Amino acid sequence: MSATAVKPETIRPIRAFEVSVAAVQKLSPHFLRITFTGGDLDYFGSNAAGQTLDLRIKVMIPSSGFPLPDFGSMDEGWYQQWLAMDADTRGFMRTYTVRRFRSGSPGIDGVPAVAAELDVDFVLHLDGGSGPAALWAASAAPGDRLTLIGPDVRAGDCLGIEFAPGGASRLLLVGDETAVPAIAAILETLPAATTGHAILEVPCAEDFLDLATDSGIQISWLARGGNPNGAPLQEAVRRVLAPAACDLGDEPEAVDVDTDILWETPEPADVGSGLYAWIAGEAAAVRELRRYLVRDVGMDRNSVAFMGYWRLGKAQRS
Ligand SMILES: Cc1cc2nc3c(=O)[nH]c(=O)nc-3n(C[C@H](O)[C@H](O)[C@H](O)COP(=O)(O)OP(=O)(O)OC[C@H]3O[C@@H](n4cnc5c(N)ncnc54)[C@H](O)[C@@H]3O)c2cc1C
Repeated sequence: MSATAVKPETIRPIRAFEVSVAAVQKLSPHFLRITFTGGDLDYFGSNAAGQTLDLRIKVMIPSSGFPLPDFGSMDEGWYQQWLAMDADTRGFMRTYTVRRFRSGSPGIDGVPAVAAELDVDFVLHLDGGSGPAALWAASAAPGDRLTLIGPDVRAGDCLGIEFAPGGASRLLLVGDETAVPAIAAILETLPAATTGHAILEVPCAEDFLDLATDSGIQISWLARGGNPNGAPLQEAVRRVLAPAACDLGDEPEAVDVDTDILWETPEPADVGSGLYAWIAGEAAAVRELRRYLVRDVGMDRNSVAFMGYWRLGKAQRS
């Protein structure tokens, strides 16, 4: 990243990035990769190792027939300002994962500049309950403009990454299709010595993607078919981690996923050295896995991140 004259204290850790669609690629029946580009992305953030792991961003989707508000002109209270706008015209805010970020390079001595690019893999949930983000993605075309909200590298702190396995020697990565981009990005960073399992549930077998990893993680794809969301994951996790023969854990506190956000992630400093689990997907399915791992397997809650990424039958709350 090039040096800048902006004072660090004036940089907001999370801010708006004005981007446009550079490419659209259908990866499978339910995955669509959209590559965003724009000069603004030169300042997009990643962790100290240049990784994005499960970094979440906000994708601002315009309301049909109305331009997005100018987020760049809003101050630190942008979220409250945006919420106070007319809900019919302000657009929609949805959460997505950075599947991959490629930093750009300035052109020198006749070598052309390379623009920074950011990939987001959108799940096309178009059958049945669709939503503004999936619909926008399905009709996106090169040149379309959008606003992403994410970390600014100049702030030095890459907010929005939850994956923090500390010194854990084994991993359990579990997710449905909405967590595939995060798990795929995490797998790409893991060293050969890391072992464990990645269990991924997707709508159909044609959605199984080629994932790259140097690690010893065993990747298992599950096609949901006509089963309820999360059912194949429940079964597969039970095969990988058996219930404790004795010394069961406590029943975790109840979470009403219809009204509350299921989001329980340990402090990185508290993560132990044994097994670390990272679990994301449909909130009720994640809640069921939380119950199984905490109560029946007796897993230490300081070693598991449970994240409800979406809720069946409910639009994402802004
Ligand atoms: C941290 C985080 C990271 C995420 N990363 C990604 C990502 O990289 N890629 C991705 O595609 N999603 C990701 N999601 C999930 C995504 O935010 C939700 O799926 C979101 O609801 C999609 O918005 P929408 O406007 O399409 O649908 P909404 O307006 O939110 O919902 C409309 C209807 O669609 C249903 N619905 C929403 N998502 C799905 C789905 N996947 N399958 C079936 N029905 C659905 C809802 O239940 C509702 O009935 C992530 C979520 C979080 C919290």
